[in-house]
Amino acid sequence: MMRKRNSVLILGIASIIILASVQVIIVGGIWNQKNEMFGLRYTMRSQEALYFINRRLGSDGFDTVRYVLSKYSEQAARELSDAQDSAALYNKKQEILKYFTIALDKEQDLSAMLAAYFERRGWEKNFVHSIVINDLEFIASDTIPVVHRRTGPAISGKETKVKAGQDEENGSKILVVPKVMEDNNYRLMFDYYIDFSDKQQYILRESAATLLLSIFSIIVVVTIFIITYRNLMEEKRLSNLKTDFINNMTHELKTPLSTITVAGKTLEMPLIRSNDEKIVETARLIGKQSIHLNQLINMILEISMWERTQFELEKKNIDIEELMDDIVESFRTGGGNNAQIIKKYDLKGIKAELDVVYFTTMLNNLLSNAVKYSDKQPVIEVEGFRSEEGIFIKVTDNGIGINKNDQKHIFDKFYRAHTGNIHKFKGLGLGLYYVKKIAEAHGGDVSVNSKPGKGSTFTINIPY
Ligand code: ADP
Repeated sequence: MMRKRNSVLILGIASIIILASVQVIIVGGIWNQKNEMFGLRYTMRSQEALYFINRRLGSDGFDTVRYVLSKYSEQAARELSDAQDSAALYNKKQEILKYFTIALDKEQDLSAMLAAYFERRGWEKNFVHSIVINDLEFIASDTIPVVHRRTGPAISGKETKVKAGQDEENGSKILVVPKVMEDNNYRLMFDYYIDFSDKQQYILRESAATLLLSIFSIIVVVTIFIITYRNLMEEKRLSNLKTDFINNMTHELKTPLSTITVAGKTLEMPLIRSNDEKIVETARLIGKQSIHLNQLINMILEISMWERTQFELEKKNIDIEELMDDIVESFRTGGGNNAQIIKKYDLKGIKAELDVVYFTTMLNNLLSNAVKYSDKQPVIEVEGFRSEEGIFIKVTDNGIGINKNDQKHIFDKFYRAHTGNIHKFKGLGLGLYYVKKIAEAHGGDVSVNSKPGKGSTFTINIPY
């Protein structure tokens, strides 16, 4: 059983993990798709914007930087060809590259123009630009490559990236325009990129529905799994209880049965038959045991009847205090003659709609448990009072008590606390189940308060 429970648990968790992974893959796919769509959309939008800027403003967005660079490059070209040795040449190239890099970043107007165009259209405008210089040659007496990507590094070993603002994200940049810029002194090739810093949020907003749906579906599956698993465990617990019940019942039924068998055998003995007194005594014993047997069988029958149909109470308007007095007194003379019973009623003249038979069974069960589950001289306190919430009947004992865990289950059908020797206290685990059923049938309930070793209090509450 244990292994079965574990395998159900493992299977369930494994399926949930698989489901979650599938969801992650799906959401990831959607995310990538949205990402690509976003890139594509803004590539097209920036082309549209470029066209507009060109046609309407007659500019390519690099007029200022072109002017600045042409001014600078005149002198730079001169200095470059004047360089004495390779070290000086190298330094000069570095300086030129740096100047170009900064100028391209700071003096271009395209970013502002693009942002303005995007804003007018109500599109995203929070992007950062980056410029990658691919090639830079100076044309003095002969061509001096400052940066030459295709024929290997001339000065800098890697791409020279010009960035404005934050760090770029890999692969998310959009190439707006590859540009060639030329004048008498230099030839420059670079790429102008834009990158949307709010892109993640934007895509998140777009895929929120999918994301929520997938989280929701995982939650639903997990919930269903938990409920199913708990039901399974509950069923298992009930089946264990039933097994226990059958064992107990066998035990309970065997005792009177074997007494009757022995008594029957005794009656056959000639010695007994000649003694009238003995015959009567044995017959009484048989009678008593038959009644006990009958009670047990009736109890089981009644319980199964209750299972099938909603049973009906025959309610009468009863003086509760009188009824309780009757029950306690007949209990005192019957089973509980060794117990000390303290009556504390405060219900004088109060009448309620009760079924006398069931109510008697209910109180009797509590009283007999109070005696049964006791390891010393039982002292039982029976209280009865009325408050705003209804009528309360409390049975307190000084018995062995019930631990917290058992308290949760003692009202369950067939449940018996497994503390100590179970056969020391005989029973079927039906008494309290009965009590609860009867209390509920009267519209009320029963609760327990107990400390192991100290005693227990059972409280019945019936609405008034
Ligand atoms: P049974 O007495 O036949 O076992 P009950 O339904 O009457 O069945 O009680 C269920 C369990 O609750 C008992 O097995 C016992 O462990 C515990 N119990 C009930 N009443 C008391 C009590 N007054 N004191 C201690 N334990 C109790």
